[in-house]
Amino acid sequence: MPTIVGHAVFGATLARLRLSGVADGAGAWRALTLCGAAAMLPDLDVVTFKLGIPYASPWGHRGFSHSLFFAAAAALVLLWLSRGLWPRLGFSLRAGFVLLFGVIASHALLDMFTDATHGPALFMPFSPQRFLLDWRPIEGSPIAPRFWMTAKGRRVVWTEALYIGLPCLALMLACRWRERRKDCAA
Ligand SMILES: [Zn+2]
Repeated sequence: MPTIVGHAVFGATLARLRLSGVADGAGAWRALTLCGAAAMLPDLDVVTFKLGIPYASPWGHRGFSHSLFFAAAAALVLLWLSRGLWPRLGFSLRAGFVLLFGVIASHALLDMFTDATHGPALFMPFSPQRFLLDWRPIEGSPIAPRFWMTAKGRRVVWTEALYIGLPCLALMLACRWRERRKDCAA
């Protein structure tokens, strides 16, 4: 997996693009924070290692919690919890759901770009098949924090900065530039 930071940055970037032009600044920040946190949710499944559930199990790491079904269910729960926020931002509840679903599902998409042995089980609980892309430039992040200070940990940070951080930064700047142009034209 990319680190949870990489997932949060990517999820918040998707939300930033979707929330472009929203006038309620405080509300937009709340939505950004929510979406960043939502993008990290699937990796709560690391608890399955502690429970003795094997990585290869459909109910283990990158199994059910990385499926589109889970993304939809989690998006519904978060939508209900944040139901007062979306109308304030000028979003319908359906639009809020689509955004939350997108950021949670983006987690599995990023995981498919990592050099891990097992990809996300996108179609659990209907199929246990795991999916990885042929091009996987992102170094899989070790789970134990002690690995962070190793050469492997540094490669993780470098590949995430290159393949997640930089594109997200470019998208955020482009979004800001477009908003400024609109402000100037108004
Ligand atoms: Zn993951």
